[in-house]
Amino acid sequence: MSEIKKEYYKNNPGVNAGENGGNWQGGISFEPYSPEFNSLLRRKIRKRDNYTCQLCESKKTKRALSIHHIDYDKQNSHPTNLISLCINCHMKTNGNRKKWTALFKKKIKVIYKKIAA
Ligand SMILES: [Zn+2]
Repeated sequence: MSEIKKEYYKNNPGVNAGENGGNWQGGISFEPYSPEFNSLLRRKIRKRDNYTCQLCESKKTKRALSIHHIDYDKQNSHPTNLISLCINCHMKTNGNRKKWTALFKKKIKVIYKKIAA
C-alpha cells in the first residue's frame, strides 16, 4: 500500500483498509465517492439543474455549484440522488438530514417531471 493510501486510511478510520475487505476493488474504492461521481457527471447535473442552486435559486455563485447527495450516501451517484446546491446551501444540509432528504426528494421529482414533459 502506498504512503498516500496509508495516510488516507489513518485519517478516515471508517474506511475499510484491508485489501481483502469486501469493498476493495483494486484501488477504485480509495475515493470516498463512487467512481461514477466524476467531473463529467457533476457537470451534467449542474446543466440539468440550469446552473441554479435548487434551494435558494441563486445563479450567481463565486464557485461552481456543489453537487449534493440527497440520501447522503456518497456511493449512490445515480442522477436522481444528486442535486445542485450553492456552497452556502450545501453547508446547511450538514444538519437535520431527515428534513433535507425529504425536501430534495420532492424537488428531484419535480425536476424529472419537467424533463419528461
Ligand atoms: Zn443556495
